[in-house]
Amino acid sequence: MAKAKTKKSKKGLSKPALVIIGTLLTIAITIIAVALYVFIYSYSYIHGDLKIDLKEYRYSQNQTSFVYAYDSNGDPVEVTRLFGTINRVWVDIEDTNPYIAKCYVGLEDKRFYEHEGVDWTRTIAAVVKYGGKQGGSTLTQQLIKNLTEEDEVTYVRKYKEILNALNLERYYSKEDIIEAYLNTVYLSHGCYGVKTAAETYFGKEIADCNLAESAALAAITQFPSKYDPILNPENNKKRRNYCLKLMLEQDLITKKEYNEAVKYEIKFQLNQQTNEDANVVYSYYTDAVINQVEQDLMSKYGYTAKTASNKINYGGLRIYSAVDLDIQSAMDSVYETREYVADDSVQSSMTIMDYDGRVVGIEGGIGEKTGRRELNRATDSPRQPGSTIKPISVYGPAIDTGATYWSKMYANSASMTINGQAWPKNQGGYGGGNYVTVQYGLAQSYNTISARVLSDLGLNTSYTYLKDKFCLKHLDPGDESYSPLATGSMTHGATSLEMAAAFQTFGNGGVYHQPYFYYKVEDASGNVILDKADYDNHQAIEESSAEIMNRLLRTVMSMGTGTPYNVEGQTTFGKTGTTDNDNDRWFVGGTPYYVAAVWYGYDIPREIYNVWNNPAGNLFKAVMDKVHSGLDSKEFPEAESGVTEGYYCTNSGMLASNGCSSDLGYYKSDDMPSYCSGHYYDGGGGDSGGDYSGNGGGDSTSGQSGGGGETTASGGGGEQTQPEEPQENQPDTE
Ligand SMILES: [Zn+2]
Repeated sequence: MAKAKTKKSKKGLSKPALVIIGTLLTIAITIIAVALYVFIYSYSYIHGDLKIDLKEYRYSQNQTSFVYAYDSNGDPVEVTRLFGTINRVWVDIEDTNPYIAKCYVGLEDKRFYEHEGVDWTRTIAAVVKYGGKQGGSTLTQQLIKNLTEEDEVTYVRKYKEILNALNLERYYSKEDIIEAYLNTVYLSHGCYGVKTAAETYFGKEIADCNLAESAALAAITQFPSKYDPILNPENNKKRRNYCLKLMLEQDLITKKEYNEAVKYEIKFQLNQQTNEDANVVYSYYTDAVINQVEQDLMSKYGYTAKTASNKINYGGLRIYSAVDLDIQSAMDSVYETREYVADDSVQSSMTIMDYDGRVVGIEGGIGEKTGRRELNRATDSPRQPGSTIKPISVYGPAIDTGATYWSKMYANSASMTINGQAWPKNQGGYGGGNYVTVQYGLAQSYNTISARVLSDLGLNTSYTYLKDKFCLKHLDPGDESYSPLATGSMTHGATSLEMAAAFQTFGNGGVYHQPYFYYKVEDASGNVILDKADYDNHQAIEESSAEIMNRLLRTVMSMGTGTPYNVEGQTTFGKTGTTDNDNDRWFVGGTPYYVAAVWYGYDIPREIYNVWNNPAGNLFKAVMDKVHSGLDSKEFPEAESGVTEGYYCTNSGMLASNGCSSDLGYYKSDDMPSYCSGHYYDGGGGDSGGDYSGNGGGDSTSGQSGGGGETTASGGGGEQTQPEEPQENQPDTE
């Protein structure tokens, strides 16, 4: 071959000439091929399918999420915004103002309404001036850059940007394009789009911005840090006056508008609330809303924690929180100060709910909250509940199952030996070990009585109620024993949220509603993606049991340990709590309107001292008095049927007969005690019996030393001797 070629060449052209021609030919063919390819590719790209979908983008871009609350008129008001590092809120073009789009056209792209995505005059000028890599971009091209977030300076990117711009213009109107532009342009201080920028720099809506202010925003665009109106107000002023001048030259504004705008003194004020700022502190309530939304997104949609969190921070969600702003602010006014607490390091948490499961207010700690999603004691810190456990572990279940009743008599004495010690102890001793009713034992918070009722009920039944009916979340299998269930010395304990949720059953006819912090969550397109209606509600105890418990717990407030904490002007039920080592104080109670739980103690548990009354009760009353000020007094709902009011013999606890000294009690209609026949108690465990000598006083023939009746765990057995003579209601008659 080589030989033949050489021969040929000898006939005609010289070898070097052939090489040159060959090279040129190759180059020409290559150029034609490339040009053809570029042309065909470009043509099909531009005329082909839509490459960037603005509508899809609108809903899939990183967007700020909102938390709303309903005001007293039932209208949603913005509580806070959730965003990671990007603050972006979409605004439709008709909700901007007449100037902002014109400012951008005037300053950035005067042939915007004439070109088809690319301004060739400017592009060629830019090639001459900068070599074509930068400059000369139309608003459409800038939009492409904003959407693709590609901004490295290369020919290939520039070329692709041109193609995308031409493609986009075939599918969208100028109006659509400038709307998308106004919503994606970066305007410094973490603001994407003119809406968040107007809020950040002027504290107002973009719709309310005048020409000068609109020009100030447009002025930022070319070089956001250089023209930032807060950081460099003089630069911004020069650039916006230049913008106004261009607008005047292009007849986009009148001479009069121009003069006014140039003269106008803009007041810039950095609005931190809407600004990207890692130090924005959300309230405990907002923290709880976020946690619940995150949990629910994970369980309903199978998201990972990270995906759920991204959705919340960037998903443009609208979260309708269930907070009651007035109640929350009443709580804040008490919890922001240390007026009601003993020292500078003690802590407290409080949860208030209505009887439908709505958490109306929450406090995760005392004092100013300094961080985002910091420890929320109300939802995250289970503590030993002490005696506040008794209504849900012992009395409620025992009334519900018929294991006990209002006036059933129990010896106020230790009922067993635990680790060689008589157990349980009462705070004020055994008071002679006399017999008292369930009502009295509960009102006085006698551990002895809850221990004996627990024996009647059974450990497993008690534990099952706590777990399945009252939905305590931090139970430990080791809690299924006497001390945790009868006196609340549990391994982990419960949060004030869990306690309030459990006690709601005593004010609403026995229904457990899973507590909720939001009504619903909408995605960026307005679809409801989470709804509190999906939450669990169940009848925890019978309606009649709930009413009897409500009345029992009201006696705690009228004659028992809760008397100092009655809510002003309202019927109140409640229960105090103190743990054995005095590390925790509790109060849980409610009015016909709301139910609340308060925990008080130290983060690192230690003994509480230097307190008056029960400090948890004091906090309960301080907050609830404020919450109820101005509310009418009303009554708790009563069961439609199933509860019978009856007089009982104060000596035997049986229904009163002629000649009995009597008091009023409430019973399950289908499980009434029998009538008193001689004023001695015979309703219990067969042979057990004893007299009852009135409220905390009187002698007793049983358990005289306070150590009477040591029974085993299956308890209730009869160590007590029969009374010889019935005792009337006489305290301390020895
Ligand atoms: Zn009697």
